[in-house]
Amino acid sequence: MERLATIEHRVGCGHDTHRLRPGGPLRLGGVTVPHDQAFEGHSDADVLLHAVTDALLGAAGMSDIGELFPDTDPRFAGADSGRLLQDAWQRVAAEGWRIGNLDCIVFLQRPKLSAHKPAIRQRIAELLEISAQQVNVKAKTGESLGAIGRGEAGEALCVALLERDKRRP
Ligand code: MG
Repeated sequence: MERLATIEHRVGCGHDTHRLRPGGPLRLGGVTVPHDQAFEGHSDADVLLHAVTDALLGAAGMSDIGELFPDTDPRFAGADSGRLLQDAWQRVAAEGWRIGNLDCIVFLQRPKLSAHKPAIRQRIAELLEISAQQVNVKAKTGESLGAIGRGEAGEALCVALLERDKRRP
């Protein structure tokens, strides 16, 4: 109880959607997944890293990825979303926050992601300098319904738990 009283917690949620276009591979969670489609976007369009970035910014009360890295800014054309995530996380960590855990869901009709989940967890953990045990990635199809089910788009959700010492200097 004494420890709880000195630790401050915050949760944040992140969500993102990107269209899919013909011609792979797919960039997802910082890894390259062999596929015949790729996400469309101003940056490298990594829908999962964008959701993770927004969850961390949200938990810290620091706005969102669109405000930090506007998609109208030519500097971010084709940007590596891993670098954007690290940049956002540095700003959050500078406020004394540490990551408790991240729980993510990717919604994608194809391809099956089970074989890629360990590499995605590992890559997200590396980008944030945490353990892969602190990162969970789940995958759902669109049950053949709607834009996801038709293979026209993919979505990602992330919930992040942050903690920091209330008595930090
Ligand atoms: Mg995005």
